[in-house]
Formats: sequence, C-alpha cells, structure tokens
Amino acid sequence: MKPIDWVVVGGGAVGVTTACLLADAGLRVAVVTGPANPLLSTGREDLRAYSLTPAARRILTACGVWQRLAAAHVTPYDRLQVWDAARGATRGATLAFDAASCGRPALAYMVEHSHLQAALWAALAARPAVSVHTATLATLEPGELCCHLQLSDGQLLAARAVAACDGGDSPLRTMVGIECDERPYPQAAVIANVRCDQPHGATARQVFLAEGPLAFLPLPDPQRYAIVWSTTPTAAAALVAASEAAFCAELGRAFEHRLGAVLASSPRLAFPLTRCHANTYSAGRVVLVGDAAHQMHPLAGQGLNAGLLDAAVLAERAAAVGAAGLHYPHALFQRYERQRRGEILALLAATDRLNQLFLAREPWVGRLRGAGLALIHRLGPLKRLLMAHAMGDSGDLPVLARPAAHDPF
Ligand SMILES: Cc1cc2nc3c(=O)[nH]c(=O)nc-3n(C[C@H](O)[C@H](O)[C@H](O)COP(=O)(O)OP(=O)(O)OC[C@H]3O[C@@H](n4cnc5c(N)ncnc54)[C@H](O)[C@@H]3O)c2cc1C
Repeated sequence: MKPIDWVVVGGGAVGVTTACLLADAGLRVAVVTGPANPLLSTGREDLRAYSLTPAARRILTACGVWQRLAAAHVTPYDRLQVWDAARGATRGATLAFDAASCGRPALAYMVEHSHLQAALWAALAARPAVSVHTATLATLEPGELCCHLQLSDGQLLAARAVAACDGGDSPLRTMVGIECDERPYPQAAVIANVRCDQPHGATARQVFLAEGPLAFLPLPDPQRYAIVWSTTPTAAAALVAASEAAFCAELGRAFEHRLGAVLASSPRLAFPLTRCHANTYSAGRVVLVGDAAHQMHPLAGQGLNAGLLDAAVLAERAAAVGAAGLHYPHALFQRYERQRRGEILALLAATDRLNQLFLAREPWVGRLRGAGLALIHRLGPLKRLLMAHAMGDSGDLPVLARPAAHDPF
C-alpha cells in the first residue's frame, strides 16, 4: 500500500483544524474521526461552549472555519470581571479587563460546540482531497518507512506521519508508549446553560470561591449564560443531581446574585479535572497535538486555544519541509515541540498557581490576593500584558495567529 503523507486521528476541533491546515500546505491527508461526543450536547442544546481568543479566530479564519459560523452563533465579549470570594478574600477585590483599553473590539468569542463542529465539518468537506474515515483507530504498527493503521471498520491505512488529536485520554498516545505527568485536581467542573434575570452586556464574569472558580460566560441570547463551576467532586455530584430549582437557587447564591436571580437551567454535567502533560510530544512517526499532549484547568478557558496554536505551528513546520521532510519526521516533530513545550509549560504553571492561590486556607494568602488584584487593576502596562496573554497575542506565535497591522480582531 502506498503511504499517504499524514493521517490525523481525532475529529474534534484540533483534529479537523490540523487536517485542513496540512491539506492547505499541499500534503495528502486522511482523517480518522472517532465517535462524536454525545456528552457535549443534550440533542436540543449544547452543554459545552468555548471561549476562543482572537488568535484562535485568526487560525480558524485561515482554514475557512470562522467564515462558516453564522454571526448569530458567535458571542463576542469585550469585558471580563474577576473577583475574589474565597477564604480570607478582601471585600471588593475585583479585576476588570476591557478590550477598548487596548484598542480591540473583543477580548474573546463564545461559540457553542455544535456550531463550531458543524463549521469544522463544512470546512473539511470543502477539501475533497482529504479522505475522511468515520471510524476509530484500532491498531497502529510502526514501520521503518511508514506506519500501518487499522481502523474499527477493518480499513487499512499507511502514513508517513500521524497526528494524534484524539483528546485527553488519547488511545494513540498509550499505543506508542508516551507517558504523561498527570495530576488530578481536587475538583470537578459542572457545566450547564442558565438563564438569568439580568443581561450579560457582552461581559464574561468569574468569581473565585473557596472550592474553585465559577464562570458565567455570555451566549447569543442576552440573558443566557454558559456556566463552568469548579468545585469538589462531591459537591459537583450533588449539583448535577439537584432539582433545577435547587440548582438555580444554589448557583445564584454562589454568584452573589450579581446577575439577579438564576431563572432556569439546562441539565448539568460534571467533568473530573486533570492536569496532564506528555513527557515528550512524539514517538517514531506519531506526534501529539491538542489535549492529547496537554490538558489544563478550564479556569482560563485556554485548552482549545492552545490546541489550535499547536495545530498551526505543526502545519507551518510541516509546510516548510513538505512531503520530503516526512521520510524522517523526527526533526520536524522536534522543531514543533521546541516551539510549543515552553508555552504550554508556562500556561500549565499559570493556571495551576492561580487555582492554588484561591484554594489556599491561610488568611494571609487572602490578603495578598486582594493586594495583588488591586495592584494589577491599577497598573495599566501589567494589565495590558495579562490581556495580551489572555487574547493569545503573546509568545512565539505561528504566522497564522499573529495580529496583522490592519487586523481589526
Ligand atoms: C468544563 C470545560 C470547559 C472548557 N472550556 C474551554 C474554553 O472556554 N476555551 C478553551 O479553549 N478550552 C476549553 N476547554 C478545553 C477544551 O474543551 C479542550 O482543550 C478541547 O476540547 C480539546 O480538543 P481536542 O480536539 O484536542 O480533543 P477532543 O475535543 O477531546 O477531541 C478528541 C477527538 O478524538 C476522537 N477520538 C478518540 N479516540 C479515538 C480513536 N481511537 N480513533 C479516532 N478518533 C478518536 C474523539 O471522538 C474526538 O472527536 C474546556 C474544558 C472543560 C473540561
């Protein structure tokens, strides 16, 4: 069997983006999509919505995904408010970010899972040269000149390089024996869509509570919010099991009724939270991308954004070496890892420290947090630096993700 250049394993946002970008670089690509994740929607509505940075928007625009999202399905937000209600919190310690202060129209964009996935599939379908296999990867045989892959429907593929975009539990990562530095957080995240008394006003809000952060993120209907509530696994299970009325009351109390009463809620789901970082990003002809390489706490909403940056860096590096560079892909994989590992380590450390800082029980930590928040709020340059990080505009960015001088985003 004649090997193709790349097989991408995983049909999530990172896998489809990787496949589109590799195909646009003139490489021959097949995608093995795996099963759809029924947990992310109820069939009637999405339970997962992503906060995507302007950098992620540029990458998705470059591969024709963003243009396929209807304007009504994208909710830009231009303000972010963060406050402290954890143990020993200083009353009124609030940090507010606002896009206008750095001349930008939005800090980030909320997009619901099914709309994003539909736009990704449409962009993939617009590239008929990419072959799409709606199956799962069953086995992978490494060979000297290529890998042999067997799919769940019995099909066989041969590829010079394989991108593992198969998520945090990555079966492919296990198959090739890559180990991870894995540390479960003492928390689970409850997600739901809720309706509140007051409109969001294009503002994302996050309060740090004693057991973890609670975010209210704006959705297209001005009174609808996607919530992500990190708390102890026991409390998370109770919130999922509670009646809608009891959940709404508890949620409103936890959020200090800052948006008035919580009027209604979708069913809830809880996810265990784990920090995971692969010890190496490649083995043989297989390279890890997105959650397969790293999983982080959702408090900064950066997991998918980081995965899209991985995809863009890998595709850019792959375009530079072309098909000839895949005879021995190790050098390409090393360059990719060199560009991404440091950024991911910094992101993992920042989210970990932030989470720990608010979980701390010592009263002096609470006072320190209050002083820190007030200081950041007052120091314009430091605040702008943090905003640039949050918007994905800093670090060693792939060309596709860099803001151009004329770029309004
Ligand atoms: C509560 C919560 C909120 C979050 N909010 C945000 C946010 O606001 N912004 C953000 O940037 N990130 C957010 N994240 C992180 C984000 O969800 C992940 O980083 C992102 O979904 C990872 O995408 P992925 O494509 O790498 O993996 P996944 O989305 O997990 O996709 C993996 C794909 O691989 C497929 N697959 C699995 N096994 C096989 C196999 N054997 N063969 C073939 N295919 C296979 C699966 O079917 C799936 O399609 C959040 C995470 C959580 C838990």
